Amino acid sequence: MSKFFSQKFKNISPYCAGEQPQDKKYIKLNTNESPFPPSPYAQRLARESAGDMLLYPDPEYSALVNIAAEKFGVKTSEILFTNGSDEALDYAFTAFCDDSAPAVFPDITYGFYPVFARINRVPFKEIPLKDDFTIDINDYLNAGGTVFIANPNAPTGIALKLSEIEKIIANNPKNIVVIDEAYVDFGAESCVQLIQKYNNLIVTQTFSKSRSLAGARLGMAFACEDIINDLKTVKFSRNPYNVSRMTAAAGIGALCDEEYFLGNCEKIVKTRGEFTEKLAKIGFSVLPSKANFVFAKHNVIDGKTMYTELKNRGVLVRFFEKPRINGYVRITIGSDEQMEKAFKVISEIVKGIK
Ligand code: PMP
Repeated sequence: MSKFFSQKFKNISPYCAGEQPQDKKYIKLNTNESPFPPSPYAQRLARESAGDMLLYPDPEYSALVNIAAEKFGVKTSEILFTNGSDEALDYAFTAFCDDSAPAVFPDITYGFYPVFARINRVPFKEIPLKDDFTIDINDYLNAGGTVFIANPNAPTGIALKLSEIEKIIANNPKNIVVIDEAYVDFGAESCVQLIQKYNNLIVTQTFSKSRSLAGARLGMAFACEDIINDLKTVKFSRNPYNVSRMTAAAGIGALCDEEYFLGNCEKIVKTRGEFTEKLAKIGFSVLPSKANFVFAKHNVIDGKTMYTELKNRGVLVRFFEKPRINGYVRITIGSDEQMEKAFKVISEIVKGIK
């Protein structure tokens, strides 16, 4: 740290993103990207927009917003596009958390939430998950702060039902509830339509997972018009041109190519089921996942050893050095070919130790 770094940030530890190795070729199952390339149409539109890069983009992203409104069945005034959904979440911490509305989220969830709280200098409260790693929705009724719930949750992959999410929203009339649907397309129920019914709901989604655009950085927030305008106040005060022209073009292509998107989600769900069954047969307990990853614990080998042994053999997964979950590794669901190779390596590790 330099001597000039503001004292107000001296205790910040930044979010620890998954490794993006540039040295060696791994089977990369550590950051929940899609194994499939972006839709050919998305690629074409991005390429065609390259020549327009001399100009700033439309800060309202009207073309993209119009298509998203049609696809999701909401009004154009109810959508905001952001530089990845991380940016939408960050804006929500800025706009809707303070001493009178601390952030409230599970103790085991997306690791960026406490970092967003700290960088925005807002208090936060972490509520323990139950022993089976599910969320007790009673903990979130009249939560006394701005609620952040990832549905499905990360890194567990466990999803709440739409009726449970609605109960949380309905029982926090004085506070905002943010539902982070980064992984919703892999089998959970989206609550986007509830923005028409509740004026305290924000739903965030991303193009990084199911739409194969992690490298383009595109996310979105859905909420009633007043809330979107608050988020826009933050955006236009920080970074009006937050989405690049090429990314916005790719986003249009990805939204239009529904068949490709649905087909890829279906493949991931199928592979997830098969991979889970195979892991169970060699001594893993696997949490019931509705995401494009599984959170799995071997009955003999601890999480850190599994992570290290896999990395040494060219397979990257994610390990969290945190009580309660340090027995687990999070494994992204890749293509069938990747998962077959990964399973072979996992089996070898399991056999070698026994
Ligand atoms: N929410 C959750 C739960 C995530 O795991 C991620 C991915 N790291 C995000 C949001 C953010 O994704 P992105 O910024 O790529 O849209």
